[in-house]
Amino acid sequence: MRQALTSNDAAMTMRFATATDGPVVALDVGGSAMKGAVLNERGRVVAFHRWPTSTSDGPDAVVGAVMGAVDELLRHAEGAVAIGLVVPGLVDDLAGIALHSENIGWRDVPFRELVAERSGLPVGFGHDVRAGGLAERTLGAARGVDDVLFLPIGTGISGAMYVAGALIKNKYAGELGHIDVGSGEPCACGARGCLETAASGASIAKRYNRATGGSAAGAQEVLTLMAAGDQAAAVVWDRALDALARALATYTSLLAPELIVIGGGLSGAGEVLLEPLRGRLRELLVWQREPRIVAALLGENAACLGAGLLARKAILSSSHSNRKSTTKDHQR
Ligand SMILES: [Zn+2]
Repeated sequence: MRQALTSNDAAMTMRFATATDGPVVALDVGGSAMKGAVLNERGRVVAFHRWPTSTSDGPDAVVGAVMGAVDELLRHAEGAVAIGLVVPGLVDDLAGIALHSENIGWRDVPFRELVAERSGLPVGFGHDVRAGGLAERTLGAARGVDDVLFLPIGTGISGAMYVAGALIKNKYAGELGHIDVGSGEPCACGARGCLETAASGASIAKRYNRATGGSAAGAQEVLTLMAAGDQAAAVVWDRALDALARALATYTSLLAPELIVIGGGLSGAGEVLLEPLRGRLRELLVWQREPRIVAALLGENAACLGAGLLARKAILSSSHSNRKSTTKDHQR
């Protein structure tokens, strides 16, 4: 038996070695675009493709488009050994299910099972923001830091939270966009006063347009107007900074991050955002340790690179479970 187990172990080790020795494909499904990549065994992106996410034909069509995108990536990844897929909304990472997305409209899509059955490969699956946090912490701005908030600010606002080196995986956690910052405005979530109503890219543009009758398409445009001396734009930006600082002060009191990594579209503003944000947070903190605030390093590719990391993890866990079941079979 000992001999058999030893050779079995050797066989599994070899299978593991060959299994990781190949490219993985990674796909980040967003509300407006899907970003796909082929990553070689050293984690380098060797192919990249972007597709629009068309939500007008309903959620089933989006699921079909995701499958099509995975097929297309696999055609560019000869010898692919795993797939990583990340999606927005309410996501059960452990069960492999996309529970719900407001933007896309799907409910309870068992993505991990669907993609694994279709491809025959191990599939890593998860939430886009948590995957982005994993990528920033493994490869980006938060490398080596144990207490981190990764906060992408785009159409919406939610965060990936690392506490003492562990990612909080609770599927309902991380919704910083719905902290009440006292804006008094109704939020799409049904509550009132949420951070998202003051500081998301969409709400910055909306507030400016409402105040001026203008037609700014996004936060960047409001910032450009502010730089040109537009007073209304400066007021809207000031409110957004206040709201963000308040939410971050609450987070700091609760979870004491060493580092806050701001990502998403708004992080493109760079120091125009970060420098005053640091100052305002400092004013709000009394006894708390002040976290460092930096911009994300991986930009809008963080979630896609995170999907690649989940693919690599899926190889490890599938070889681990193969190994366990083979050992059990052997002992029977
Ligand atoms: Zn809300």
